[in-house]
Amino acid sequence: MRVLVVEDEAQLAQQLQSALQGAGFAVDLADNGVDAEHLGSVEPYAAIVLDIGLPRRDGLAVLAAWRRQGMDRPVLLLTARASWQEKVRGIDAGADDYLAKPFQMEELVSRLRALIRRSAGLASAVLRQGPVALDTRACALTVDGQRVPLTGHEYRVLAFLMHHAGRTVERMELAEHVYSQDSDRDSNTLDVFVARLRRKLPPDFIVTVRGLGWRIDGAAA
Ligand code: CA
Repeated sequence: MRVLVVEDEAQLAQQLQSALQGAGFAVDLADNGVDAEHLGSVEPYAAIVLDIGLPRRDGLAVLAAWRRQGMDRPVLLLTARASWQEKVRGIDAGADDYLAKPFQMEELVSRLRALIRRSAGLASAVLRQGPVALDTRACALTVDGQRVPLTGHEYRVLAFLMHHAGRTVERMELAEHVYSQDSDRDSNTLDVFVARLRRKLPPDFIVTVRGLGWRIDGAAA
């Protein structure tokens, strides 16, 4: 899962990036409203963390512009004050959730996960397909109740496929969600991650759809 963090305070942006990377996300950063609006319009983020007070364009104006364009990804707003007027304006502009600064990183990560789950129509933080369970809180995979270690890239590939179980995920789509913008997005390395994942999963759990991509069958449960 790839997320965008829009925050102009460099130190907070770094803290957010490392907390979210630690939670298994690929993270892009923007430090002003104009870059943020562009990235959020063209990149398929699973969710966006958006500060309201931003240089060049206010966060609420950015959010309103995204919603006008039909951008429907979940957005968590960061507000400087716990003022109810600001929260109301944020929700009216199309925010899905908000946190007032200062906040605990753990709370932000957990709320962001909940937003992503809800937007995928999933109720539980543990994604299950048959003997396979992926706990998105701990980035932990178990197969038949046995813990199986995953690398960060393996986790992101498996989490995206399991969030979209039952449909084919195309190669480019997967690449866009697994790699952050500044990384080398060689989609051939996806084959390497999928091959490594297959050695850790039951046979045929990840189905190759020739010429397109991969699928985890919802019916595998
Ligand atoms: Ca700010």
